[in-house]
Amino acid sequence: MNSRSQILSKVRRLVVKIGSRVLTWEDNGLDLQGIARVAEQVAGFLRDGREVIIVTSGAVAAGRGALGLQNSRPRTIPQKQAAAAVGQTRLMRAYEDAFAEQGFTTAQLLLTQADLADRTRFLNARATIETLLECSAVPIINENDTVVVDEIKFGDNDNLSALVTNLVDAQLLVILTDIDGFYDADPRSNPAARLVPLVRSITRAMERAAGGAGSAVGTGCMATKLAAAKKAGKSGVATLIVNGKAGSTLARAVAGDEVGTLFLPERESLTSRKHWIAYTLRPRGRVLVDDGACSVLRQHGRSLLPSGVITVDGEFERGACVRVCSQDGAEFGRGLIDYSSRELERIMGHRSGDIEAILGYRYSDEVIHRDNLVIL
Ligand code: GLU
Repeated sequence: MNSRSQILSKVRRLVVKIGSRVLTWEDNGLDLQGIARVAEQVAGFLRDGREVIIVTSGAVAAGRGALGLQNSRPRTIPQKQAAAAVGQTRLMRAYEDAFAEQGFTTAQLLLTQADLADRTRFLNARATIETLLECSAVPIINENDTVVVDEIKFGDNDNLSALVTNLVDAQLLVILTDIDGFYDADPRSNPAARLVPLVRSITRAMERAAGGAGSAVGTGCMATKLAAAKKAGKSGVATLIVNGKAGSTLARAVAGDEVGTLFLPERESLTSRKHWIAYTLRPRGRVLVDDGACSVLRQHGRSLLPSGVITVDGEFERGACVRVCSQDGAEFGRGLIDYSSRELERIMGHRSGDIEAILGYRYSDEVIHRDNLVIL
């Protein structure tokens, strides 16, 4: 057994992200045969005793035709939201029919970044998904496009799929797209580009090679897929990028065949809660710390004390997620802060023992407790 099939044979729960191009035709309609093909392969996993959570795109692409917005991406955000509102029900109906054909029930979950950034809602979403899985229903997740504005957007469904992987504690993320995997150069412009079957760790050079725009449908591109693989890797989870347009590649890839690209997880992974702090929350500001604090945080896993803080940027409340940066501004960590920016401006540079005398009260000795701090 090679290492690929060894990793994949241990997978009990997986997230399958399906891109717009896998689900829709260039000229807008839903590709019902494509959806049926994916459903058939997913049903195969379920019959093998695996649990599958789907993250789907395609609502905007499925709805824009009905709104008379063919041949172009909807231009304005409200147009895109309107197209998603029309397309989401069509998309779900297609999944429902395709899975019913296989004897399985589907469930729809529409999420926003703000939902997952709220710990209570995050845990509620997790409990709902667990219950659906216990009932052998297939949770199908999309971004709640009609209500999102930049502030609460995941940005793209590749990112959403990585956050869902952490939400549900999956052991594998599969990203289905319309190219065969990760190439060492852009295969659309460089005929010498070669498919990379295995990636041990994602380098900056790879991130640069993946830059560039996506397609006319969907918002993702190879760069967003790499970013998703990296985030999943930090949860200790492997990612497969495979061509979802071609036959039974999904089933073959998960069975261990050499198709697509497998990204190995990082050896040292973050706990689910620390992953949530580092990747699901949006930082509200930053603190710059002196060299001494920098080295004890990075090397010894200690808490950040007020004495180490030299600058506070941005306005944030107690409990917010903030970037932790070295003196030159380079970010090396993120954490949940125990004092608001106003309080922090008054206590920074002082010893913990002086907090009460300065503020008149004290929440804790630390500015960021080590349990709430992630070194990136
Ligand atoms: N949520 C969007 C849709 O369903 C897709 C976003 C993406 O493709 O990344 O159409």
